Amino acid sequence: MEVTANIALKPKKTRSIQRFHRWIFSGAIAFIDGEPENGDFVKVTDTKGKVLGHGFFTPDASIAVRMTHFGKEKVVDRWWHERLQRAYNLRNDLGFVANAETTAYRLIHGEGDGFPGLIIDHYDGVLVMQVHAPGMWMIKDELVASFVEIYGDNLKAVYNKSRDTLPNAEAMQVENYYAHGSDSALAKMTAKEYGLEFNIDWEKGQKTGFFIDQRENRKLLGDLSKGKKVLNTFSYTAGFSVFALQAGATLVHSLDSSARALEVGENNVALNSLDDGRHKSIQADAVQYLKQLEEDYDIIVLDPPAFAKHQRARHRAVQGYKRINMQAIKHIKSGGLIFTFSCSQAVDKELFNNTVIASAIEAGRKVRILHQLHQPADHPVNAFHPEGEYLKGLVLRVD
Ligand code: SAH
Repeated sequence: MEVTANIALKPKKTRSIQRFHRWIFSGAIAFIDGEPENGDFVKVTDTKGKVLGHGFFTPDASIAVRMTHFGKEKVVDRWWHERLQRAYNLRNDLGFVANAETTAYRLIHGEGDGFPGLIIDHYDGVLVMQVHAPGMWMIKDELVASFVEIYGDNLKAVYNKSRDTLPNAEAMQVENYYAHGSDSALAKMTAKEYGLEFNIDWEKGQKTGFFIDQRENRKLLGDLSKGKKVLNTFSYTAGFSVFALQAGATLVHSLDSSARALEVGENNVALNSLDDGRHKSIQADAVQYLKQLEEDYDIIVLDPPAFAKHQRARHRAVQGYKRINMQAIKHIKSGGLIFTFSCSQAVDKELFNNTVIASAIEAGRKVRILHQLHQPADHPVNAFHPEGEYLKGLVLRVD
């Protein structure tokens, strides 16, 4: 790959790169030798010229360089191919690749798979990619060629959905499009999780179309739902509801503020022939509903959207988590379980746990933590890039 510029870091800013952290913030740059453009591949050095690695450059962004290679690691031709193969092999080792019961899994989890700024989810032979960094956009066609090589005939289509994720998508005139196939993919837009089937609308749905990261947590909810009354707030795809219904819950309420989300959820309930009168949709604000709770639910799921999308919003996000958790803890019946989650990267595990504990104190009830939950193994966390760990959750028992 052609290197267009040399970026030198300030003396005190080289340490984190030497510790394999993949982000270089713009404030860490001492000087730039050359005139790199958006998405260019650059060499990173210290001020004396010692090579620290290579990466993709984004001008005018707080993360100026996303590292792809460290130290003297050679930048071989098609370096991404081996990394993709390694990511695929990991999913194969985890039992996802040839699994008829679970066909939704994450193939590339950004930094966790050595691809800073790239997310790829797999839905029954269809890959949906979201590019977050201009550098990855530059090699998108080469990536698709590699998918075709790795998956062979099992690849039905590749949908590139980066219009909302690429920082300057508008200026670059980026549209969402099928980079490979489409007909066979569009004929059947569903995928399975533990044998349960879900409609996946990667074109119009949120993110890549489904929240794969909750798979194991939905399964756990199912394991605990038999004979129970369940409230699933922020329900969207009704993933948690479908698992609860399948497991034999006596009543399941899916609550979302959006009518369209509730429709998506009801379609998934019907797809699994679970629309037998036990399920009901409720359009409401989650906090308001919890405040005036009338039903004696045994289990409440709180899976809100990311309240904090960046560090600046952290304080408000914590207040938001505290409010919903406090209301749920206060109003759930004695012996009830609360599945509570946060997918905000800016709120780490410790802060989230402390916030939930503060809610319990305020609610004035006895609360025990039964499970500490997180994202599954197909969303690996690079040990040198802890920011990749974003989903955390707790199962609380309230006495
Ligand atoms: N648990 C879901 C994902 C949640 S996405 C799943 O497993 O698929 C977040 C959802 O929260 C969206 O559908 C959005 O419409 C809904 N939402 C956002 N604010 C809300 C509020 N104040 N009350 C209820 N729902 C809300």
